[in-house]
Amino acid sequence: MTIFSKIVSGEIPCNKVLENEEFLAFHDINPKAPVHILIIPKKEYKCFQEVDPKIMVGLTEFTQKVAKLLGLDESGYRLITNNGSDGGQEVMHLHFHLLGGSKLSWNHLSDSDSHKFL
Ligand code: AMP
Repeated sequence: MTIFSKIVSGEIPCNKVLENEEFLAFHDINPKAPVHILIIPKKEYKCFQEVDPKIMVGLTEFTQKVAKLLGLDESGYRLITNNGSDGGQEVMHLHFHLLGGSKLSWNHLSDSDSHKFL
């Protein structure tokens, strides 16, 4: 059971933003932007690569609602999913990071061969 499944079951608390039968949005415990929300399907998919594409329709609608609820729909935001080892995924339960609340930087993202990307 992943830590996010424990949040879904209520075993671990979270700072909830929005929930429905299939999805949950809550504040990231270690925010990397003024607004940093995690959006997860309650069903445990390991990562984006393994998700049933059909759930992405509902997840898209849910994510748009969360952005609107937080007033980010007009100002803008970034939506990220880290997939697997090179993607930097730490929690093996599919989640999207919704980041906003200020202008976000877009620096080089790789530790190696960074000169290639400048
Ligand atoms: P990732 O590296 O994409 O797997 O991101 C995992 C995210 O989960 C990180 O941004 C963590 O800060 C966040 N996180 C881990 N545990 C918790 C928790 N109990 N409540 C909220 N966010 C968490």
